[in-house]
Amino acid sequence: MPKRTADVPAYAGAWVNVGPGEVVRLIDIEGCQVGDLFAVATADHNEFLSPSVTRLNNGNIFPRLGEAFFSCADRPILTFLEDTSPGQHDMLYASCNDAWYRSRGMPDHKNCRDNYFAAARDAGINHAIQPDPVNIFQNTPPKPDGSFFVGVTLSGPGDYVTMRAELDCIVIVTACSSDRILGGKSTPMRLEVYDS
Ligand SMILES: [Zn+2]
Repeated sequence: MPKRTADVPAYAGAWVNVGPGEVVRLIDIEGCQVGDLFAVATADHNEFLSPSVTRLNNGNIFPRLGEAFFSCADRPILTFLEDTSPGQHDMLYASCNDAWYRSRGMPDHKNCRDNYFAAARDAGINHAIQPDPVNIFQNTPPKPDGSFFVGVTLSGPGDYVTMRAELDCIVIVTACSSDRILGGKSTPMRLEVYDS
C-alpha cells in the first residue's frame, strides 16, 4: 500500500511530498498520457529539478534508468529507478501554455503551465517563473536535422515510472492537455509514495 497518493485529474495537476528513503511512482491510468513532472526542494523553493542541468551532468538528452535528475543547484533531487513503458520520455520541450495554444487558434485551452502554477500554489510554492518540465511518456525525439518527431504517446494502461527522492521535495505532475500527442484527449494519472 502506498503511504500517500494524489490523483492527477485529466487536464489538471497535483502534488505530493516525498523525502529521502521514499520513492514516488507516476502511473498512467488509461495509457497514452504525458505527465509534466516537476520537483521543488522543500527547504528552498528556488531549488528545483532542472532538465538542462540534468542534461549537462548525464551527457544525454533523455532520462535513463539509474541516473539522477539534478536540481538547478547541481544536486541530485530524484533518481530514475523503474519504467514499465516503452521508455520514451522528453527533457527538451517546454510545458504547453496558454499563449502557445492561443497562437494556434485554441484560446482558453487547458495547459500545463497554468496547471503547474495552480498545483504549486496549492503546495505553498509561489514561483514567478515556471521551471521546465520532464515530460514523462512524451514521444517527441529529435530527428537528425534537429527538428522534432511528434509522435503519439506510447505508454499503455497502468504503465508507470518510479523515482527515488534524494532530497525532501514536492513533486508536482500535470496531466498534459495537448490532445494531439495524447491520441485525442487528456486522461488521469496518479502519484503514489512508498518506502524504498
Ligand atoms: Zn502539457
